[in-house]
Amino acid sequence: MDNLCNISVINELFSRHGFSFSKNLGQNFLVNPAICPKIAKEGIPDESYGVLEIGPGIGVLTNELAKRAKKVTAIEIDKRLLGILDETLAEYDNVNIINDDILKLDVNKLITEEFSGMPVCVCANLPYYITSPIIMSLLERRLPITSITVMVQKEAAVRLCAKMGSRECGAVSFAVNYFSTPKLLFNVSKGSFMPAPKVDSAVIRLDVKDKLPLKEENERFLFNIVKAAFSQRRKTLANPVSQALNIPKADVIDALEKIGAPSTARAEQLSFEQFISLSDKLNNKK
Ligand code: SAM
Repeated sequence: MDNLCNISVINELFSRHGFSFSKNLGQNFLVNPAICPKIAKEGIPDESYGVLEIGPGIGVLTNELAKRAKKVTAIEIDKRLLGILDETLAEYDNVNIINDDILKLDVNKLITEEFSGMPVCVCANLPYYITSPIIMSLLERRLPITSITVMVQKEAAVRLCAKMGSRECGAVSFAVNYFSTPKLLFNVSKGSFMPAPKVDSAVIRLDVKDKLPLKEENERFLFNIVKAAFSQRRKTLANPVSQALNIPKADVIDALEKIGAPSTARAEQLSFEQFISLSDKLNNKK
């Protein structure tokens, strides 16, 4: 069904299926017809791809994905939407809707079962209350996916895509930069949604890295350093890092000097590469 951004079509579907919005599930549906084709175009490299969608809602983005991909599998937690999706996606034989919670699913198993032999990407207008947990769990699980193209709140987009050393960067930006190359694609005004949220949104794409900087067994140590460093981002990082890792502060200062950073460095002053080198130097002192 193509006219899913039309308010009277949406209202008619809702009244026939007895649906009303759930605020707790982050249900802000897209009603600006220009946005979904753009997300699908930016998110799907070519038509050989399988697409994993999270939260199809009434299927407005799913329609655009189904036109451009080999297969779309969409995970929707709200079973009240299943009857609507049956209707709005009836014309496609390459769409599978699964009623589940994305955070509880074994996504690796799902990808193997749903997308055998296909390259896979993720596209979604994410429920805002769990943006970071969804993105981090997709990245940390090292899934066989090439990219994640998602709509998130604008502030979250800036934070997720921030470069190390910038004012906006934090532990989550480090993790995103570790697993992927992030790009802020375009902004979307709050008036593009029904109901309209309080803030504007943005679409970002994370191109997943083939090769990661560290071996998996050394990652926990690195991420502990980053988390501790940003826990007091306006203060020098030597104290929280030495406490979190149980390493003498003098050793942290020595390692900071060895990576070319001042002994009083704050987390937001270190580059991505300097965090990796710091982890390397401190790992040798354990
Ligand atoms: N894709 C639709 C659109 O763009 O209009 C809906 C997007 S809406 C922001 C988020 C969707 O995610 C809703 O349909 C909501 O029910 C669903 N959702 C919320 N939490 C979820 C979860 N844990 N797992 C799967 N879907 C979820």
